[in-house]
Parts: sequence; structure tokens; C-alpha cells
Amino acid sequence: MKLPYILLVDDDVQVLRAIQRDIRSVYREDYKVAAAESAYDALELIRELKLKNETVALFISDQRMPEMEGVAFLEQANAIFPEAKKVLLTAYSDTEAAIKAINDVKLDYYLLKPWHPPEEKLFPILNDLLDDWQAQYKPDHEATRIIGFQWSPKSHDLKEFLSGNLVPYIWMDVEEHEEAEKYLVSAQADKSNLPLVVLKDGTFLNDPSLPELAARVGLQQKATQEMYDVLIIGGGPAGLAASVYGSCEGLKTLLIEKSNPGGQAGNSARIENYLGFPNGLSGAELTRRAITQTQRFGTEILTPQEVSSITVKDGYKITEMMDGTRVHSKTVIIATGAAYAKLNIPGLASFTGAGVYYGSAAVEAHACRNETIYIAGGGNSACQAAMYMCQFAKEVNIVIRKEKLSQTAANYLVENIRKMPNIKVLANHDVIGCSGTTVLETVTLRNSKTCEELTLPAKALFIYIGTRPGTAWLNDTLLKDEKGFIITGRDLMKEKNYHSFWKLDREPYMPETSIPGIFASGDVRSGALAGISSAVGEGAMAIRFIRKYLQEM
Ligand SMILES: Cc1cc2nc3c(=O)[nH]c(=O)nc-3n(C[C@H](O)[C@H](O)[C@H](O)COP(=O)(O)OP(=O)(O)OC[C@H]3O[C@@H](n4cnc5c(N)ncnc54)[C@H](O)[C@@H]3O)c2cc1C
Repeated sequence: MKLPYILLVDDDVQVLRAIQRDIRSVYREDYKVAAAESAYDALELIRELKLKNETVALFISDQRMPEMEGVAFLEQANAIFPEAKKVLLTAYSDTEAAIKAINDVKLDYYLLKPWHPPEEKLFPILNDLLDDWQAQYKPDHEATRIIGFQWSPKSHDLKEFLSGNLVPYIWMDVEEHEEAEKYLVSAQADKSNLPLVVLKDGTFLNDPSLPELAARVGLQQKATQEMYDVLIIGGGPAGLAASVYGSCEGLKTLLIEKSNPGGQAGNSARIENYLGFPNGLSGAELTRRAITQTQRFGTEILTPQEVSSITVKDGYKITEMMDGTRVHSKTVIIATGAAYAKLNIPGLASFTGAGVYYGSAAVEAHACRNETIYIAGGGNSACQAAMYMCQFAKEVNIVIRKEKLSQTAANYLVENIRKMPNIKVLANHDVIGCSGTTVLETVTLRNSKTCEELTLPAKALFIYIGTRPGTAWLNDTLLKDEKGFIITGRDLMKEKNYHSFWKLDREPYMPETSIPGIFASGDVRSGALAGISSAVGEGAMAIRFIRKYLQEM
């Protein structure tokens, strides 16, 4: 089996040997540790490794090197192994350069010299980074394989589902991978019935449904208990935070998620504003950490299971799922957040998953290598996607209706985008059309100032034009505001018919809905501040009130 590399670069031979010795002492079983005394030697080695089909998991480079600074080296290394983690070794006086490098080269960490004792200052950091890297790394021999056509919506759904549930897989485009044919022959499958999934144990699934695939890759589908203290609907940041706090406090906790844990945040290519992560982290990383944490405390997670209704009997809540199964609980937290608003253009729906994507930038990034792509929307999430995709695509075009990106996106993102030579912002434009035979081939844009229309070749269109609350399934069970968000707490008391639905002596708790014991947290709650930190805070807070509610029961 080929081991991935950890590559160390420092022109100071003493420092290089010292860090090499420390790293070898802990990681030599799982990684090859290579060292280079100059950035040029290291780049030559990296190119050789690429040619030999080897993998680099981690680069650690000194900042002050005479012929090339560490930041510049990491930038070049990143172009060859974009998934590798990047650590800069700095003296205290270089901290400013290191902080700047967080933006410029997407630095994962800067390590201050000296790093002694390594058990405290080096290994915990590297363990964390290498765990993240391992989560997305798929060694050839042990991953599930998906074989299909690159631009097939069905293949896209399977890829998105597995990556969202942190199940490593290898994607094989049937038209590109010679080896794919071998699997088709063994499975006696033909190209008209793709995608084909080859499981780790060598068995096959032809064009599976998501629940079928989920069951075979070991994701839980059925609740194990008769009654839960708290049942959480939705596995975004709010639901995950509630599940961590719920199970940590000893409550029997069940989380139900209709697609992938992570929610909208799971689609974020880089979250830069979450407390405690100065280098930013991807939505997938945040989700992986949250799932690990909540499962450690004993939360059960059912996925993919979509909740279709909630009813109440004698104060107990009965939650029903689309497949007809029911689960009983004392309390419920609705954390169903929001989903992407659809772009209404004739014919666009037929390309969804076949060149047109809502979110999903991270899943399809490799397929867009050296291609021209379009992003509709100018908010923070659209900009994050552009920053991520520009590492792969030849040209990224952000199509916005407004005059300037700064009218809709945060300053730091506008600034980062300005520095990227392969990102263009097409201001005052609308996407008004699309075409292709089986997959997306062109998009048509209209300049709202000149009314000029342009049809341009496009490999993919990623849509980030806002969100709608995930509450349609609730029908009239709970009170919602005019936009469909769930009304909670004291806002309920402003309703004309408050006394007809609220019969308790106490006021509704802050996150409590019009039915006592059913709570709402995160983006789905009327008046909530959208954002990951707020959602996490609201999820945790709901558990506090659930404790009080359970004491009253
Ligand atoms: C691409 C992108 C990037 C972003 N980047 C940032 C950022 O950098 N910083 C920041 O602060 N905010 C960011 N946001 C916003 C942030 O992600 C959201 O505010 C946050 O995810 C809201 O969390 P939530 O848990 O309330 O809901 P969501 O994240 O929307 O999660 C809701 C979950 O509920 C599930 N669900 C819905 N209905 C059902 C049902 N009936 N049954 C079962 N499950 C159901 C959904 O599948 C989903 O997983 C970003 C948003 C997007 C789209």
C-alpha cells in the first residue's frame, strides 16, 4: 500500500532535522516523511511524486528561506496537491506574514518556533489536520466506487450524498476511466443502467436509491428506542449543536436528516467567521467534527430520512417520516433551516445535476478543472464558491444583478476575489437562458443596462440566489410568519388568537413554538439571525429550555 507523504522544507538544516525527527517518531507508520533543504528541491520532489501518482497529505515549510519564502513555496505546492494541508513554520516576528498567508494561500496553520514540547504544541495540531485530510482521502483499495457518466444527475446525487455523509468514495467516469469497464463486466452491468456502485466488500448496486445505498454503506435508518427525550429534525449547524448538547447532558437524543448532515453550512467551501478557527474551515470539516462529537456522546442519526408530519398525543410528540415510520418523543426541535431558492429559467430544471448545481461546488470541483464556469448570485456563499472553484476551473464568472459585488458580499471576500486573475465579476447581468443536448453547454446572459444578450459556452452553472424556509411539510401544524418561518417565544403573544392556542400559565419559552414542547432553532425560526454561529447558539439554547420543559412534564 502506498503511504501518503508529509513533506518538510527548511533551509536551516538543524531545524529541519529536529522537526523531521519529531514527526517521524509519531507518524512513520502511516506517512512517509520527506525533507528538503530548499524550496526548489521540494518543488522538484513534489512534481516527481505527482508523476509517480503519489499523494502528499501535509506540507510544513519554513517562512524565511533565502531563495523563496515559505508562503510562495506553499502557493506553488498547492497548485500541484490542492488537497494537502499547509503549515507555515514561523518565528514570532513573522506572525503578520503568516496571518496574511491565511488568506493568500489558504494556510491551515502557522506554527511558532520552537514547538517544544511537541506533545503539546505540535502533535495535537498535526493530528487534527491529518484527520481532516484523511476524511477526504480515498486510498484506492478501500473506498466505495461510483461508476457513471460525469454529467448524470443520478451520479451527482450519489456523489453528493456520500460526500455529505463523510463516506469516502472514488468517482469513475465511465468515459474516462479504463478500469471502469472491468467493473461493469464483473457486475454484468451495462451503460444504460448506471450509476453502478461497487461496495468495499466487492458487491455491486445497480442504480441504487439513496436509502438503499445508505443502508449498504452502514448509515442508520431506523430508530432503536421506543421514546426519546428530544427528537431533532434537520442536521444543519442548529440541529447538530442541539444534538451535541442534548446527548452530552444525558438526554436520549435522535437526529433525523433528510439528505446530508451539515445543512447549508455543509456546502460552504470556506467558513471564515466561525469563532476559534482563524484559518477558516470548510463546511465538510465542521460537519465531520460535529458528527464525531455528537456520536461520541451517543446521539443516534438517521439519514436519509425526511420528516413529513408531527402530531401530539397526551403531550407526547409523534414524528412521522416519508417512509411511514413513526418515532415518539417528549420534545421536538425543528431545525430544518432553509433550502436554495430555484432559478426560474425555461429548461434549466432538466440540467439540474447535469451541469447546473445548487451549492455542491465542492463535490463537482474536480470535474470543472480547466473549464469555464458561471456562478449566479453575489452573496457570501457565491463568493466562497468562486474562491474555491478558481483553484480548479480555468475561468470563474460571477453573474450579479447589482452594480458591485461589495453591495452584497463581505469586504474580505470582495478583496480576495479582486486578487484572483481567473475570477471575473459580470455586474448588471442576469442569467436568462441555458442550452445543451444532454448536459449544460451554454448559458445566456442579459446586460440589464444595455439589454445586450450573450450566449456563452459553460461547463457548469452554480446557483446561489438565496434560500427559502424548510417548513412546507409542516402545513398548518405550527404558526408561521408571512414568509413561512416558524414563530416562537414572545412573538407568539403578539398573535390575535394567542389565548386560543396557548393554554399554559407560563409564557412560551424563547425558542418554543405555538405547541408546547416543540421548539425551533436556527434559520427556520422567524427573526433568527442567519449564520452558522447563531444557528449553533440557538441549537444549544433550545436544549436549556428543553431541560426546563422536561422538569415541568
Ligand atoms: C454555500 C453557503 C455558504 C455559507 N457560508 C456561511 C459562512 O461562511 N458563515 C456563516 O455564518 N454562514 C454561512 N452560511 C449560512 C449558514 O450556513 C446557515 O445560516 C446555517 O447553515 C443555518 O443552519 P440551520 O441548522 O439553521 O439550517 P440548515 O443549515 O439549512 O440545515 C437544515 C437541515 O435540515 C434538513 N431538513 C430540512 N427539512 C427536513 C425534513 N423535513 N426532514 C429531515 N431533515 C430536513 C436539511 O436537509 C438540512 O440539512 C452559508 C450558507 C450557504 C448556503
